[in-house]
Amino acid sequence: MGKTHRGKGLKEQVRNGRAVCPVCKRESVKVVYETQIKDKTVKVCKTCKAAIGHGKLQKEVEALVPAS
Ligand SMILES: [Zn+2]
Repeated sequence: MGKTHRGKGLKEQVRNGRAVCPVCKRESVKVVYETQIKDKTVKVCKTCKAAIGHGKLQKEVEALVPAS
């Protein structure tokens, strides 16, 4: 397993991988976890990725991808 979410890899990302999560709107969280929403890949924070994986936050994530 790669260390894409930890250590040196993070430092190479914009603002060390920290940004505002598009789902929970928290600031300065690591928005480095890719999740598949419909046919799009969206980067969210760890908490949201887990929640989405459990079938939660569907309304929030669907607002992120334009309805087709
Ligand atoms: Zn989040």
